[in-house]
Amino acid sequence: MLLTALAGYPKERPNVNKMKPFRGAWRATLSPIVDLEIVHGGGAVAGPDGTWRLKDLLAVRAGGAPPRIRAAQLDGPWLRLALDDGSRHAVLAPGARADEPHSPARALLVHDIGQLLTFDSDEGDGLGLQRDTALLCVDGRVALFGEQALARAPTDAERIDARGALVTPGLIDPHTHPIFAGDRAVEFGMKAQGKTYLEIHKAGGGLYSTVRATRAASTDELARAGRRNLDRLLRWGVTTIEGKSGYALETEGELRMLEALRLVADTHPVDVEPTLLGAHAVPPEHKESRDAYIDEIVEQMIPRAARGQLARWCDAYCEDGAFTRDEVQRIFEAARAHGLGLRLHAEQFTDQRGAQLAAELGAASADHLEAVSDDGIAAMAAAGTVAILLPGAALTCRCPWPPARALAEAGVPIALGTDLNPGSSMTASLPLMMSLACTQMRMSCEEAWRAVTIVAARSLGLDDVGVLRPGARADLVIFDAQDYRVVPYFFGDNHARVVIKDGRVVVGA
Ligand code: FE
Repeated sequence: MLLTALAGYPKERPNVNKMKPFRGAWRATLSPIVDLEIVHGGGAVAGPDGTWRLKDLLAVRAGGAPPRIRAAQLDGPWLRLALDDGSRHAVLAPGARADEPHSPARALLVHDIGQLLTFDSDEGDGLGLQRDTALLCVDGRVALFGEQALARAPTDAERIDARGALVTPGLIDPHTHPIFAGDRAVEFGMKAQGKTYLEIHKAGGGLYSTVRATRAASTDELARAGRRNLDRLLRWGVTTIEGKSGYALETEGELRMLEALRLVADTHPVDVEPTLLGAHAVPPEHKESRDAYIDEIVEQMIPRAARGQLARWCDAYCEDGAFTRDEVQRIFEAARAHGLGLRLHAEQFTDQRGAQLAAELGAASADHLEAVSDDGIAAMAAAGTVAILLPGAALTCRCPWPPARALAEAGVPIALGTDLNPGSSMTASLPLMMSLACTQMRMSCEEAWRAVTIVAARSLGLDDVGVLRPGARADLVIFDAQDYRVVPYFFGDNHARVVIKDGRVVVGA
């Protein structure tokens, strides 16, 4: 499969800086739909025909040919427009194009789509399924669907014929460990021969072997390894990931891992939500002084990662032999005080009441959950904590499958992740995770699709990916499939034919 534009990909970082109020006037072109002149920023009040004054601060004037603006409303970073032909659009108000007046719009039309999963309505069991349709993207954002997309596409728009295939939002992997040095293939071979944990440990294997290799690697080497993993994820149709540190287990090394992750993310099509996982394991030199290591996480790692904006999230491994519930609580309270969101490796092998802790502390997700209790499930349901299930790890570790049905029936939102990591889940294939979820965990195809799109996005606090609606990011996958069930039905096959990130083709053609 042809990978294009991976090097030097011009990344617009989706950070909050773009959302700052803007001063003065700027122009935006949502060509061919409407030309806008926008003056200052603020709230929303309807004005006379053609001009909308938004709470004294923002005026929107529509130029060019009809249709005219019927209503405009500022909604966070979005200027939402209703046109008098009934169509709706969203323009990123203080967008990158603010200081590029009259820059030409970049349009992409995907036509002859057989099935389009939008996740923007309950149609088709929550898939937002549209049939025989088209999709117009303008300046990296979703603009129009169906007949309107075909009618309004500019003549110079890039056109892709989907040939009746399935189109979905770019997939979202909400749990990965993409930065590490070396691999554990030799250890895998020993496990396959039936060697014991102790024998592997004596031969220098296990998590600490990855720690040794990662500590010895330069930031550039770590970034190169991370890039290879992001390339692998992208080929499967993944356009946004959560990525963790956690293989240096000392402050400088953990920060270096996060720097390497940022280095890759800045120049790679895949967007990365970075997570500090200093509490992945107790480092060997702190076996007898674990409190000192937790002090280091709380007093050094978390403040420095937060101050340097190297992480948005903090994770910990709550498990027998890793970190106790009380230790995690201390780490999470520090993380929260520094503005980091929380995610937790919980109940992978034993019930530590990590799910309850995640719910109590308002964590976005509790991940793994193979050994979660009914009380843990109830606590997550009450708090709205997302369950991120990782069938690749359950498969590799020969664990029981996580109780997806019990979680779903209790009303816990379920996302699926690869848990891409060198020890327990060496895969970048979210579609394979969907297959395992359907065949082994009794999830429906519709639940599996939501788990790798809109629910995964929700677990990361993102509302403009994993969904296709006007204003959402134009991250798309065209699959070699006529029906959405084909993707989980084949296991281990890659049906992603074309991957589009921010309205640009980055895989296939
Ligand atoms: Fe993990």
